Amino acid sequence: MQFTIQTGKTNEILRTKSESVSSVELRKFTRLAEDMVRYIKNPDNGGVGLAAPQIGVNKRIIAVSLMRDGDDENYRTIAMINPEIIEHADETELDNEGCLSIPGEHGDVDRWKRIKVSYIDTSLRPQSILLSGLAARIVQHEVDHLEGILFIDRVKKSENILAKK
Ligand code: ZN
Repeated sequence: MQFTIQTGKTNEILRTKSESVSSVELRKFTRLAEDMVRYIKNPDNGGVGLAAPQIGVNKRIIAVSLMRDGDDENYRTIAMINPEIIEHADETELDNEGCLSIPGEHGDVDRWKRIKVSYIDTSLRPQSILLSGLAARIVQHEVDHLEGILFIDRVKKSENILAKK
């Protein structure tokens, strides 16, 4: 599965608020959601999360790797259709983020430590899940994409550093 990744801080698709997947559209978008999971699972693509607008589709679909931390080697990558953060801890945590759509840039972003997310899975079942640590961060980053928000909007420090390569 190859996608063309939308890039750029002012990219119109990335800056558009995405629409919910309606019940009549669910079946149609299940395949796309599964393709997004496959894309993220491919190490050549180098991502831990992907939101539909990043592949040019302004629909509320994300694929996320539910990692405890950067050393986690035993994690699930799942698709969430119409994800919604329905609860969150008040406590936040600062950590470094990057984005497939903003190549070469990283920055520290404050995110809630724990969240509860509701979504529809690719079997069209409603689900909710409690997440913490890196998984919670990844989901918050991807849900932001659905609102047209990029991580750079939330970087507090002015030190946007270039990735070493
Ligand atoms: Zn991103």
